[in-house]
Amino acid sequence: MMSKNAILEAERCVSCGLCLQNCPTYLKTLSEADSPRGRIALMRGAARCEIPINARFVEHIDLCLDCRACERVCPNQVAYGSILRAMRKPVEAAKRQGLLEKLFRRASLFLLAHPEKIEQFGRRYLGSPIRGLLPDKLKKLDAMLPDAPAREIKPSIYPAVGEKRGDVGLFLGCVARISDSVTLRASIHVLNRLGYTVHVPQAQTCCGALHGRLGEDEAPLVERNRSAFAKVDKIVCTSSACAAELLEQFPGRVFDISRFLNESEGWENMEISPLDAKIAVHDPCSLRNVLKGEAHPYKLLERIPNAKIVALPGNSQCCGSAGSYFLTQPAMANALMDDKMKLIGGVNADVVATSNVGCAMSFKARGLRTQHPVVLLAYQMGFV
Ligand code: SF4
Ligand code: SF4
Repeated sequence: MMSKNAILEAERCVSCGLCLQNCPTYLKTLSEADSPRGRIALMRGAARCEIPINARFVEHIDLCLDCRACERVCPNQVAYGSILRAMRKPVEAAKRQGLLEKLFRRASLFLLAHPEKIEQFGRRYLGSPIRGLLPDKLKKLDAMLPDAPAREIKPSIYPAVGEKRGDVGLFLGCVARISDSVTLRASIHVLNRLGYTVHVPQAQTCCGALHGRLGEDEAPLVERNRSAFAKVDKIVCTSSACAAELLEQFPGRVFDISRFLNESEGWENMEISPLDAKIAVHDPCSLRNVLKGEAHPYKLLERIPNAKIVALPGNSQCCGSAGSYFLTQPAMANALMDDKMKLIGGVNADVVATSNVGCAMSFKARGLRTQHPVVLLAYQMGFV
């Protein structure tokens, strides 16, 4: 059951309801049980053994995106995310899973813990002819992936160009290394030119976000990352969801790439060529609500001469990607993505930028190719 700290945190909710209008699921269903206040009341009730953790309970908790928009507006600063996390294990235990589901879950967790295997398999798959023969159900998933395998990132040390400013570790992630290796390479390009030697340790693994979401123990992954990054003080992530997860495990050592670059010195010596384009920025929930760093991608892109940077309307609402949510709650995820695509259509931008690989993949499944802010900047700094 929930820890004492999580129960105490849930008891800090004063039921004011100020979070309700910021909760994407409440705005769709208008059901109190799908609101932050309602979910906290449910979880508090379950922790006190007043409410059973049955199928209806699980349904309302599982519909939560874990977007943490409620935390951002809560006047009492209730740490909703920590309460939800504490409830994951009992919720997962209450689910009745068939043998196939259990096997699929085990296999997914194994692969996430061994991202090098995801990469090997992914590269073979991306180049194979079976992609055209998939059943409709899997075609949607396939549409999120790159059309062809991109250049891979070799675990190595990439030396600073010119005078050295410092050392930094680069976190590859489990999915980004096949779906977004261009962002990883672009990050190395910019970091090197700013004087950073970039360490890409072979032994690193997944950040553990999906393990946590499934109520599984993340400790072995945390331990592996701890020893992989033991030689560097600072770790940069190109995906804000990974940064948000890792920051809890390595407080003070983890940075979203945009923030790290913005806070670096040496920009006065960088040559950045102009780009005549309107760039609309999508704020991922992890960057906005957890890292509180949504201003950094704008600031980074503003370094590109001539580029016009605008915020996407509706940036406070989740796009519905939310880790594995698009797979487990497709109806709600699609409804939220429909809203997002309508808003994007009204902006008339040349390019949409996002700092989270999960959001980028969900946009791709809707036919929208986004770019990471660091890639747009790196291209103007000679990255090919
Ligand atoms: S805003 Fe905070 S205190 Fe108020 S209902 Fe929501 S979670 Fe509870
Ligand atoms: S995390 Fe997001 S979806 Fe879940 S209760 Fe909070 S605002 Fe609603």
